[in-house]
Order: sequence, then C-alpha cells, then structure tokens
Amino acid sequence: VTAKLKDRLVPLSAEAAKSFADLSVTQVRNPEGLERLANGNLILNGRALLGSDVAIRHGHLRLPDGLVYQLVPGESQRFKAYRVQHNQARGPYKGGLRYHREVSLDLFKALAAEMTWKTAIAEVPFGGGKGGIQLDPREYGREELEAITLRFMYRLKSLIGPNIDIPAPDVGTNPEIMALLYRQFSDGERERHNLRGIVTGKDVRIGGSEGRGKATGQGVAFCIEDYYADRGESVKGKTFVLQGFGNVGSHAANILANMGARLLAVNDADGSIFNGDGIDVNALSAYVADPKNLKRSVVGFPGAQRIEKKDLWDVQADILVPAALGGEITADVAERLKVKLIAEGANGPTTPEADRVLQKRGIELIPDIIANAGGVTVSYYEWIQNKRMERWSEAEVDQRLERAMKRNYRIIRDISRNQPRKTEMHDSRPYCIGKPVDSRCAAMILALKRIEAHYLLEGFSQ
Ligand code: GLU
Repeated sequence: VTAKLKDRLVPLSAEAAKSFADLSVTQVRNPEGLERLANGNLILNGRALLGSDVAIRHGHLRLPDGLVYQLVPGESQRFKAYRVQHNQARGPYKGGLRYHREVSLDLFKALAAEMTWKTAIAEVPFGGGKGGIQLDPREYGREELEAITLRFMYRLKSLIGPNIDIPAPDVGTNPEIMALLYRQFSDGERERHNLRGIVTGKDVRIGGSEGRGKATGQGVAFCIEDYYADRGESVKGKTFVLQGFGNVGSHAANILANMGARLLAVNDADGSIFNGDGIDVNALSAYVADPKNLKRSVVGFPGAQRIEKKDLWDVQADILVPAALGGEITADVAERLKVKLIAEGANGPTTPEADRVLQKRGIELIPDIIANAGGVTVSYYEWIQNKRMERWSEAEVDQRLERAMKRNYRIIRDISRNQPRKTEMHDSRPYCIGKPVDSRCAAMILALKRIEAHYLLEGFSQ
C-alpha cells in the first residue's frame, strides 16, 4: 500500500503538462496551497476538494483549477487488519468492520462477542463477528483507502462469504468502503450478482436497503419511544444529551427531534456544544456536512455555545445517548450524570464499574445489544432482499424494524421484572428466571437462552 497522496504529488513542468491534452491543462504550479488530508479529502488553498473534483488518471492527478501533478510511487506501508469470528450457532458470522487508530485483537474479540448476543436478541439468523484495520481513515486519501480496502478483502476472501461471514460498516467505514469490498470479493465471478449479500450497508443504488443508513439511530429512537410508552409517557417534550454526532448519533438526534424531543448538548472528538433552549438538529447536520467545515465537527455551530468537552456529562436532561466509542462512561462519569435514562447507541460505552454506579443511583439503562440492534436488523433485511432480488420500500423497512425492536425490547423488560407475559406480540415465559434482574442482565439472558436452544436442540457437544 502506498504512502499518503500528498507526499506523492510532484508538479509537472509546463512543457510536460501540455502533452496531457485530455486533462485540459491550463497551468502548472507548485502544490504550495496543498495542505493536508482531512476526512479523506485534499485541501487546496483552504478549500476542501471533494472526491468528484479531483481526477486521477494515468498516474496523474488533476485538480479543478487545471493544476496537474504526477503521482510518484509511494513507500509501502503495512497495516494490522483483523477479522474475529466469534460464534455461528445461529447462522453466518455477522458484524462490522472498524477503521480506527485504537483497535486491537482484544477489542475485536469483545465486539464480535457483542454481535453474537445482539443478533440473538434481534432474532436475525446470524452469529457474531467483527474486524477492521488499525488506521485513522482521516489521514488517508480516497485512493489509498481504496488500495488498503481492496488488499484487505483480497486476504479476507477465503474466510468470508454471503453464507459464511458478512461484514458491514462500523466506526470509520461507510457504504463506499462496502462497495469496494463487494467489488473485490466478486471480481471475475460469473454470477457476481449472487454475491451481493457478501456485505451489508451498501449504497441503495447497488443493492443496499432503504433505511439502512439511519437504521441504528432509528432503532435507538424506537427503544426510547417504547420505554416511555410503557410508562404511559411520550418522547415529546423530553430533553436529551448526545455523545457523538456520527452515523448513529446524527440519525438518532434527527429522529428523536422529529418525535418532539429537544437536544440540549452534543459533543464529538473536537469539543462539546450546548443550548438550553434546544439545538436545531437539521441546522446542525447541515453545518457538519458543509465542505467549509473541514473537520466535520459540531464545534463552532452558531446555534449553540461551546462548553468544555467534559461538561457534557453535567448537563441536566431526561436522556443520554452515548453514540461514540466504547468505555466512555466510567464510574466517575456515572457519578456526575444528571439524566434519568441512558440508551446505548454505541457498543460497550459503559464500564462495569459505571454500571454499578448507575444502578445505585437509579439511572435506567437500555443496553447496547438491544438499543443499537437496529443496524444489524436492517442489515438482515438487506441480505434477504439481496438473496431474493427484491427491493423493499423505506416505509416497509421502518415498519418491520419498529415491530422487531419493540417486541424484543419488551421481552427484555419482562425478563428484567420477572413478569412473564403472553400477549399477541410475544411470549416471554421461557426466558424469565424467577427473580427480577437489571436490564443488561435481562438482555444477556435473552441472548444466551436463544443461543442455548441451538446447542441443546441440535446437540452440539460444546
Ligand atoms: N456495526 C454495526 C453494529 O455494531 C452493524 C453490524 C452489521 O450490520 O452487521 O451493530
């Protein structure tokens, strides 16, 4: 894999550039304004260049104002890449690929196990897996990420397949990366189209499902809605704090706001912002997506004031949605929180010590393996649509997702209260264990019981 794009750019002489008539060269200058790469983009004279602005052809790169550079071969670089396959008692391994600087084999083992529990709770016919690459995708250009991703899939190919192990997006990956994985996996195959189910989270134009992009955030919102419905209340008028404004956080915020809740504070890697009257989520999304906002950060949003990053934990609100990385709600943070409910959009955001503090303080919790199961649930819908060569409408996906999320969340609540119920929706009797337990424990009971059935009934020896 080559080194960073920026380091590989050499300006062509005016003479040499003229011979590239097809690139309509007007001038050749030194790449002095070419600063750095952020979010996979080049920045020229303070302006971020979108991928579509930049043409890379025949080893040359043309920028929008006609500048042409020759791309020289970069140094090769090695990356640590992983795929952990945790359990397949219920179906093919399933789980995302994470591109992040701080990943390790232990982290992927833990996240793969979480996928095993999550797919069981979601009642989708999959097991658990997880993987990724140790790199910060913001430090690499599109071309490099493509090369790295293709090489990753080249090495992964013998271990995965639409009925063996099915990757999906996670932190640092997106539908573009999924498309590259599909291309590399299916390259040269006579029945490529039958392999579309090798990855989920694809763009809807190439076999992705409607509603998959927002699915995790949507699922978080459905759980919160059901939490209040169970208490005879509504999400309308509730306030919430959000940690992280990526795929999960931004969609959850948008959907909760549409349900009538108010976002009071949000943070990302660069800082926190606060507005006691409520932050306009649409305006914030537009601010973050603006190409002029080079870091794609919530910081600097005119509709809120900046607060110290850690002060996010002191904001008083009804709900906290952690939607960033794991391990962020420590015991100290749990002592500080001024919220009544935590809905875990992220995987593993709460440490075991913090869990004990939350219980002591009576702060309610919707655990990650149910709260964020919307993503993998719609991944399953995508996989079925790929198998059947079907295309479902967004309304149909949302409706199925709502039914599935709320049904499984209610079973978890019944287990936690030790109140087995037989209703039209579900029967929780086989799962209740004879005494009340906390919600995370209840979720684990449901997951393990559903997996156990396969071992008991199919007679696996271990
Ligand atoms: N990465 C997501 C998760 O942690 C989605 C996994 C999938 O769709 O397979 O649940």
